[in-house]
Formats: sequence, C-alpha cells, structure tokens
Amino acid sequence: MDQRELLARAAHLDAGDALAPLREAFHMPEGMVYLDGNSLGLMPKAVPARLQAVAHQEWSEGLIRSWSNAGWFDLPMAVGDRIAPVIGAGPGEVAVGDSTSVNLFKCLAAALHLRPGRTVILAEANNFPTDIYMAQGLAALVPGVRIEFLEEGQTVAQRVHDQVAVVLLSHVDYRTAVVRDMERINREARAGGALVLWDLSHTAGAVHCDLRGSGSDLAVGCTYKYLNGGPGAPAYCWIRAELMEQVRQPLAGWMGHAAPFGFPRDYAPAPGARRMVCGTPQVLSLSALDEALKIWGGVDLAALFAKSRVMTDFFIEAVEALCAGHGLQLRVPRDAAARGSHVSFDLPQGFEVMQALAARGVIGDFRAPATMRFGFAPMYLRFADVARAAVLLRDIVDTREWDQPRFRVRGKVT
Ligand SMILES: *Cc1c(COP(=O)(O)O)cnc(C)c1O
Repeated sequence: MDQRELLARAAHLDAGDALAPLREAFHMPEGMVYLDGNSLGLMPKAVPARLQAVAHQEWSEGLIRSWSNAGWFDLPMAVGDRIAPVIGAGPGEVAVGDSTSVNLFKCLAAALHLRPGRTVILAEANNFPTDIYMAQGLAALVPGVRIEFLEEGQTVAQRVHDQVAVVLLSHVDYRTAVVRDMERINREARAGGALVLWDLSHTAGAVHCDLRGSGSDLAVGCTYKYLNGGPGAPAYCWIRAELMEQVRQPLAGWMGHAAPFGFPRDYAPAPGARRMVCGTPQVLSLSALDEALKIWGGVDLAALFAKSRVMTDFFIEAVEALCAGHGLQLRVPRDAAARGSHVSFDLPQGFEVMQALAARGVIGDFRAPATMRFGFAPMYLRFADVARAAVLLRDIVDTREWDQPRFRVRGKVT
C-alpha cells in the first residue's frame, strides 16, 4: 500500500462511517491528530458550559442547598447509571468517586472479606503498576495477606488454589492491548473458589464488555480515558448485585452510610453500591463527567467497537507498509478481536520518534522501555487522521527527523 492508496482508502472509510458525526461533540485542537484518547480523552464541547453552570448557579447561588436541589448528593450513583450500559452493568450497580487506585483498594479488601479464611491476592505480574502497588499496600496492612503473581503465559486455572481469595487482572492490557476472555477466566477462578476483580480502565468505551453476562464479580475503572471525563475524573466500581449485600468495604465513610444525616455512632452500609462511596463526592469533576457521559446515550456500541477494530487494523497495515525496514515491532495482537483500541510498536528510539511526531501535531505516548503507543478513540477519530499519522511516522523514520537533542528531553509525564 503506497501513500496515495492509503489516503484513498481512508477517504472511503470515512465516507462510510455512520459514527462520524459524533466527532462534532468534541473539541479537537486545530491541526492535531490526537492518538492519546486512551490516556486522556478529548474534552466534550458541552463540559465548559456545565462547569460554568455548576460554579455560577449551583455553587455560588445554591450553596449548601445544592446538595439536594442540584442533585449533588446523588451524583455518584447517577453518573454510575450512565456508565453502566457501556460495561454491561445494571442500573444502581455502579458507584463513582475517588481514583481507580482507591477503588482497587476498596474492592480488593471487600473481596478478601467475601472469602474469609483465604489470604492470597493472585495479581497479574504485568498489570499497570498502581494495581499491584495498591495490592501490596493492602497486603502490608492486613496480617497474613500476601500476593502471588500470575506470570505472562500462565492461566488462572493453573494458578488458582484454595488460598486465593481474589484474582486481579486488567481486561485490556495497557501495553500489549491484549483482551482477556472474561467469561472463561471468571469460570476458572470460580472453579477454584476465588473472585475476580477486573480493571476496565482500557476497556470502557473502547471494547465490548458484559460484566453481568460474563459472570463477573467485581470491577473498577477510570473515566478520563475513552470516557472523556477530564483530567483526574473520578473512577467507578461495580460489584455483582448478588454479592453486594455482604460487602464490607474498608473505607467506610459517612457518605456510604445507610443514614449519613442521622449521624449514628456506628457504621452501617447504605443498601447496594452506594456503600462504596467514601467521603463527600467530588462535585466539580463528577459534574464534568456527567456531562461527558451524556454523549453515550444514543451511541450504537457494537458499531463503535467495530470501528475501533477496523481503525486499528488500518493503522497496523499502514505503518507496516510505509515504515517497512525501520525495525518497528508490533506489540499488539494481529487479530483485531483479541485487541483493545490502541496499537503499540516497539522501537529502540521510540521516545524520540514520539517526540518528533508530537512536534508535527500527532500526539501519542511512550511507555518505557521502548513502546510507542497510539490510542484510537473510535468516537472522534477519522480514518484520515490515522492515515496522516502513518505518513508522518514514515517521514520521521525515513529522514531521521527524530535524531535531534530537543527530542531527547524527558518530561515528568510520558
Ligand atoms: C489508567 C489506569 C489506572 C489509573 O489509576 P488512577 O488511580 O485513576 O490514576 C489504573 N489501572 C489501569 C489498568 C489503568 O490503565
């Protein structure tokens, strides 16, 4: 495939894209090809007006009354109800607040409590580090609890045993984009008497997910990636309704109490998922997220996930055709059905190449030691953007444009 053919195919794919109008709901900076929606999604255009209204009416005028009148108190569950259909959860089952890290802690502890006598967290060794760190923090706190690592290539069936309380996994791997078989893994864990806690951070809004249908137990995820909730947007957690009434979460704050304004001395959990809320909800960021999630209301999810697969296929094919001979190694599955919505290529000078691409307006990211990562949020990307990114990448590796001191400077966030 040469450049002309690539651009013609992109135009054809864009012309047939029934989801193309969704792009209008987002602010795309002028001239930018944004391939980092898997780290921080674009800002929905409706969010600033919502934040203005929260600041100028609900906060400045309504003040304390807004906890009731503007629905602030109910935001954690109301926002959860907008997320639920995207991950295959039911209404009233998703609670939103705190970070993913904090929700991992709450859910891991809840899982240990649901499996008394069992003391092992079986954690995927290559998971996103915060997942492991939070498990390590909990293990250091609770006497007897320890972590065993599930190494790459091992199955849950091989490693689960009668001391494992919970298996901690990402549904989509943040580096390799590998999608795990939720249903099979849930079955394997259950056969060993263990629960599974799924991290959906790279799943929600990008890949099909049916928490209830797959027989899942617990899940957490962030909302600032494909759900476009904004920097630091609150995370969510879900626990199967059949387990919920037995759940005791360790961060038993007053906002998850059955009667927060009765001020009783002893903790009693609120019914259902509300008990997963800890302290006062983050009203400003929950409001931004609430507005961002309205876009999902009418979206054909099957079509959206199909677009993600076609788009990532298209990018892989384009890069392999245009950049052949430059040593780029595909780090994600070739089979689109086994792949999330990002594409990674390894290249020793990947960091510099990503910096050079950014200087040309193509924003992706870099994961040490050598992974160039390109996220394809199907809601707002065009195939023309994908083709442009591949052409610029080719130019940069062909001309060694990346080989400049200014592209070697590393910031705090890569
Ligand atoms: C993005 C991501 C997180 C984010 O955790 P925060 O506490 O929200 O910063 C956690 N786990 C995985 C797998 C992620 O991809």
